[in-house]
Amino acid sequence: MRVEVDRDRCASTGGCEAMAPDVFEVGDDGELVVLTAEPDDALLPDVRNAVQACPTRALRLVD
Ligand code: SF4
Repeated sequence: MRVEVDRDRCASTGGCEAMAPDVFEVGDDGELVVLTAEPDDALLPDVRNAVQACPTRALRLVD
């Protein structure tokens, strides 16, 4: 599974970083950095939660 970010939608809330800090990091400039574009299976539950919780629907998990 691969993480995709719609940067036009991301509002830099940091919610995804809080839920999956091994995968997402909001930089000092507000830009979301995806640390691991293809997260290990062990990380997927946290990533799924982050995708669901993103307030602007900026995240997707794709095969
Ligand atoms: S939760 Fe959504 S809006 Fe917030 S930083 Fe992550 S991708 Fe951006």
